[in-house]
Amino acid sequence: MPVSIDFTGKRGVVFGVANQRSIAWAISQQLAEAGAEMAFAYQNERVREPVQKLASGIGSTITAECDATDEEQVKAVYDRVAKEWDSIDFIVHSIAYAERDDLGGDFSAVTLQGFRTALEISAYTLVPVVRYGAPLIGESGGSAITLTFDASVKVYPGYNIMGTAKAALENEVRQLAAEFGPSGVRVNAISAGPLPTLSARSIPGFNEMRRAHQDRSPLKRPITHDEVANMAAFLLSDLSSGTTGAVIPVDAGYGIMAL
Ligand code: NAD
Repeated sequence: MPVSIDFTGKRGVVFGVANQRSIAWAISQQLAEAGAEMAFAYQNERVREPVQKLASGIGSTITAECDATDEEQVKAVYDRVAKEWDSIDFIVHSIAYAERDDLGGDFSAVTLQGFRTALEISAYTLVPVVRYGAPLIGESGGSAITLTFDASVKVYPGYNIMGTAKAALENEVRQLAAEFGPSGVRVNAISAGPLPTLSARSIPGFNEMRRAHQDRSPLKRPITHDEVANMAAFLLSDLSSGTTGAVIPVDAGYGIMAL
């Protein structure tokens, strides 16, 4: 059951909606219900139609194509947003990708190109997304979030190079939080348990991961999209005004268990 946090008059930019199962979409719906206005940056024309349909369903008029590995395209998203809005209050980064060949099998089989692709898309992109977005954040401050996974600190067979990318991403969260904190911009990560999405489907052993959460987490069940969206709303709101540089689990407690 979504909690209610008031986002009336708040505006933000969301990177990473591909379809209605995307974690970024669950977050966007929750924020829209709470009164937020959002602009959506989508990866390419393959996802343009579904994203535009979803966006217009919540009254959003700003959608922009953006390969987030291209800094000019990231900057162009914010330039477009700045034409319509004086300032923004929040940023959602919910982007990841690794070549299918680099998920599953031996970790040491990763190629340099596969390493670069995973790290560039899944970790690096947070940097330009915050760098170009932060100047648009208004005087009263704002908040950026990204999505990470427990494989940053533990070995999940199958997740392979994405674990390395998530470790880098979490480090960036701390460095960006330190850099932008004095300007009133907070940066945090949500470490979500396994959720069935387009990206999750390409991870070998995803169903076992979800079953393990069900069997071994203290809450004895997998988490839901709504639970991640609730944490996102908290981190993007003033309720979390004292929190930055944190990696907060929404994992039914799975991360605390040794067995
Ligand atoms: P998803 O497939 O819906 O979202 C991934 C998004 O990344 C897509 O919108 C895709 O278009 C975008 N993307 C990929 N390459 C891009 C690029 N070059 N430029 C711009 N966008 C690009 O899947 P999701 O599960 O909602 O993933 C969102 C985030 O949540 C990812 O960071 C993922 O690692 C993280 N996460 C997911 C789970 C899970 O179990 N689903 C758990 C923990 C963390």
